[in-house]
Amino acid sequence: MDLQSPITEIKGVGAKTEQLFEKIGVYTVGDILLHFPRTYLKYPGAVPITSDIELNKNIAIRAIIQKSATVRKNTRIPITLLTLFGEDTKIQCVWYRMPYLKSTLTPGKHFIFYGKVVLKNNTLTMEQPTVYEEEAYSKIEETMSPVYALTAKLSNNLVIKTVKGVFEKESLFLDYLPKNIKEKFELCDYNYAIKQIHFPDSMDDLVKARRRLVFDEFFLFILAMQLQKTKQIKEPNHFKFKKDNFAEKLMEKLPFELTNAQKKTISEIKKDLYSDTVMQRLIQGDVGSGKTIVAFLMMAEAFHSGYQSAIMAPTEVLARQHYETFGEWCKMFDIDVPLILLTGSMTQKQKRIAYEQIENTPNAMVIGTHAIIQDKTHFSNLALVITDEQHRFGVKQRNTLSGKGDLPHILVMSATPIPRTLAIILYGDLDISVIDEVPAKRLPIKNCVVDTSFRDKAYNFIAGQVAEGHQAYVICPLVEESENMEGENVIDYSKILEDKFHGKISVGVLHGKMKPAQKNEIMEAFAENKIQVLVSTTVVEVGVNVPNSTVMLIENSDRFGLAQLHQLRGRVGRGDAQSYCIMINTSKSKNAKKRLETLNKSNDGFFIASEDLKLRGPGDFFGIRQSGEFQFQLADIYQDANVLQDASESVKNILENDRKLENDENRNLRNWLEKTMIDSLKNINL
Ligand code: ADP
Ligand code: MG
Repeated sequence: MDLQSPITEIKGVGAKTEQLFEKIGVYTVGDILLHFPRTYLKYPGAVPITSDIELNKNIAIRAIIQKSATVRKNTRIPITLLTLFGEDTKIQCVWYRMPYLKSTLTPGKHFIFYGKVVLKNNTLTMEQPTVYEEEAYSKIEETMSPVYALTAKLSNNLVIKTVKGVFEKESLFLDYLPKNIKEKFELCDYNYAIKQIHFPDSMDDLVKARRRLVFDEFFLFILAMQLQKTKQIKEPNHFKFKKDNFAEKLMEKLPFELTNAQKKTISEIKKDLYSDTVMQRLIQGDVGSGKTIVAFLMMAEAFHSGYQSAIMAPTEVLARQHYETFGEWCKMFDIDVPLILLTGSMTQKQKRIAYEQIENTPNAMVIGTHAIIQDKTHFSNLALVITDEQHRFGVKQRNTLSGKGDLPHILVMSATPIPRTLAIILYGDLDISVIDEVPAKRLPIKNCVVDTSFRDKAYNFIAGQVAEGHQAYVICPLVEESENMEGENVIDYSKILEDKFHGKISVGVLHGKMKPAQKNEIMEAFAENKIQVLVSTTVVEVGVNVPNSTVMLIENSDRFGLAQLHQLRGRVGRGDAQSYCIMINTSKSKNAKKRLETLNKSNDGFFIASEDLKLRGPGDFFGIRQSGEFQFQLADIYQDANVLQDASESVKNILENDRKLENDENRNLRNWLEKTMIDSLKNINL
């Protein structure tokens, strides 16, 4: 068995199980080892019996038996009963088909009873609790059992069994990190890390394991970037952009004054357009800082000079929104720009027309999604390429788009609040412009963190805002009811709201499982105020701009990362009216509330993300992840900023001494890269 073997080579995995695993993208032995747990279950500390004992949740009770257990035999199956006494209350334990327990459960003995306490016929009852001797329980208390992402019929136990089946064999991974790096940064062995991330012996081991895996994710990512970069030297700029201040003249017609940060960014870009080499620039600007108008004005410059330009957005919704906005701006500026939309959900015929237009319109602005970078698109005169929400795209995609034209100027835009030092590591090859200012006229968003008893008030508040002509977002963590996860879901929630509003307010639903065309329809209806309240999952998080919305209500807000909440909040406060963000906290933990309160204190995305870390306990380790910042599996650029620095330093050291990875100590690394399973590395030429 090796990493590439199909999982059917694992003991106990047959064709049926194989099919289940395929649904979660697990095909090979390597895949299952890299299918890391979502979180871990830890056995709770044992507690004595009291009247305020927690109900309906797995707990461990410590008790001394006072009266022998009894077995009822007159029933269809034997039932064992035992009453446990606390100071002020008692609990009735019940077991079915286990009469043999009677001989163990005798007066004077100490045991730990693990299970759920429920209220049944007014009696505190524990059904089928597992019974442990004190010593045995303290042992399992230290262990953590993995909880995996699953699919229907694929049980957690089956995944556990399968992963264990692999570990029965020898170590599978070749540790490719050079020894000196492992020593310098105190990184544990790779195989050990993989084992511990699935079945940690203790919290300490888990932390160590995770650190190693996070290091590797960053390390390979940066290494891949650096190796690709060798081929990406500054390219000569053949384009001739007119120097008659076209964008500046358009700016004067805008109904608002651009901020100084926007103006500065525009002048930096224009300098690049006129320079000897093509632009490779990143615009970093927090949500709502107004990156779109900057992009448009620069594309207008391209149009004015007779060139094509393209902007690529990560979602259909966003691409269409840009298309609409650009259309309005063209009208307002009174310029006749050929705008071409190209998205995946368009019909074959529509796409064919778009391809033809792209080939035949030398001064078009092309707006779209990934569809832009497919083989069928042929640009004829492309001078400027922009990617919006850059962090949603992989490095490879970015390069494909830049390879589309004749070495065009490249501009990438991101709202990811990362400090400059990190940006340089992650986007090493790009110049950076920062829009660190939001339009002055905007009123700061009013925030509140409330518990569930506030819900009705919140609904009334939304109704009031709608009556004034505004709109609202309601965010739920789930699409539909789920057995595995607690939390509000958009489907049921929208029905509840329709009821509350007596059908007088139009409520729409938006989530990631919908078809792109459906999503577009809903977003358009919302943008046109045909829908007043949009109940959605976090799909609205990226870039959506409906300035008329003034309320963002976030259900189960304790379940989101703060950076993600910050992005969600950024969907309101985009117009002139006062906006509100209501976060409903469904967690009882003190820290949860404190974390959420951080959002009241600051509007600075990076500050928020770093605060989040300080307030997160090790228990939340895997529970909350910041939103899809880059496509790392475990790593989080905020939480693991230190590791990112270490990884960056390591890559630098290695490449400085051995650019082609030919030295002995780097041989394993080279082998690994050559047959790596990591997608983004597949196309690297060493
Ligand atoms: P983001 O940077 O998050 O992409 P957008 O470009 O979507 O932000 O801009 C948010 C809103 O602010 C839009 O409605 C846009 O028209 C408006 N806007 C942009 N720049 C300014 C400005 N200087 N003054 C007032 N409103 C602005
Ligand atoms: Mg945007």
